[in-house]
Amino acid sequence: MFKQFSMKRNPIYERCPSCSQPNTLHRSRARSLKENIIKKFTFFKLYRCKNCGWRGYISTLKFTKTNFRYFLFYIGLVLLVILIVRKVLEIVVR
Ligand SMILES: [Zn+2]
Repeated sequence: MFKQFSMKRNPIYERCPSCSQPNTLHRSRARSLKENIIKKFTFFKLYRCKNCGWRGYISTLKFTKTNFRYFLFYIGLVLLVILIVRKVLEIVVR
C-alpha cells in the first residue's frame, strides 16, 4: 500500500524524451562542477540515451495526482505542527 505513494522513480525504465525509445537510458557521469551540484542537491539526475545520444536531466521524483495530494497533506501537517509548537511556546513563555 505504501509503495503506491512513493514519489521515487527510475527513469532507466522509461522512454527517452528525445527519441521515445524504451530502455535506452542510462546514468551519465557529471562532467562539470555545475552538473555535480545539480546532481547532488536536486532530484534531477543526468541520463544519456544509447539510441540517439540525447543527454540531459530527468527528475527522479514522480508527481502523480495521488502522491501530490499526499505531498500537500504532509506540508499542511508540518505547518500545523509549527503552529501548535509556537502556541505552546507562547504559553510557556508567559
Ligand atoms: Zn533517445
